[in-house]
Amino acid sequence: MSTKTINIDEKLYEYLLNNSLREPELLKKLREETALMPSGLMQISPEQGQFMGLLVRLIGIRRILEIGVFTGYSSLAMALALPEDGTIVACDISEEYTRTARKYWKEANVDSRIQLKIGPAIDTLQELSQDDKLEPFDLVFIDADKGNYSNYYEAGLSLLRKGGLILVDNVLWSGKVADPENQEEDTVAIREFNQKLHQDDRIDLSLLPIGDGLTFARKR
Ligand code: SAM
Ligand code: CA
Repeated sequence: MSTKTINIDEKLYEYLLNNSLREPELLKKLREETALMPSGLMQISPEQGQFMGLLVRLIGIRRILEIGVFTGYSSLAMALALPEDGTIVACDISEEYTRTARKYWKEANVDSRIQLKIGPAIDTLQELSQDDKLEPFDLVFIDADKGNYSNYYEAGLSLLRKGGLILVDNVLWSGKVADPENQEEDTVAIREFNQKLHQDDRIDLSLLPIGDGLTFARKR
């Protein structure tokens, strides 16, 4: 028993996976393919994917904006949980990474639900904000370049419906955010971003120690 969050060592993590992971075959295949890539570690963990899928179902999410697609694990995990008329606008700068994503979206038969926008996400968000006919999003998932988190958050918040949810990945940054000696650019950006959200009364807030830290911000 503890009043704090439990420490998860390798053994306990394995137990957690063995006793709760229900990863669809295609997601497993994508995860194994991604793990062979030099930047494979950028992908969210399978239990986080399952949790995000559950969230999509739990709160009746229909429209998702994802910033940072990579090989498509998080988008596929969410797409598989969407209702028939659900959609994802997925932003990434890399044709190369998203080629894998597109292959798996197609194989899972969810490609018609996902609109991929290639280019700097800042430009895509600017474009979206100028579209008067755009329906607001129910969920925004931020997981791209850390230096732009604050910009993605502001743009995401304005594209989100009231009561909608912003999820932000890697907010604990392998623990580096809590080390004052660490002044790396990305660490400082995430640290400042976390402080900003802590003070932001436009949202309800929770920071969950799942994966590398996942922030929940519900638009008031
Ligand atoms: N959500 C993905 C998953 O779980 O599999 C992981 C995303 S990965 C951590 C970050 C992605 O952001 C990379 O695919 C990278 O190409 C993309 N990215 C980096 N800078 C970007 C930018 N300025 N605009 C859009 N995407 C960018
Ligand atoms: Ca991430």
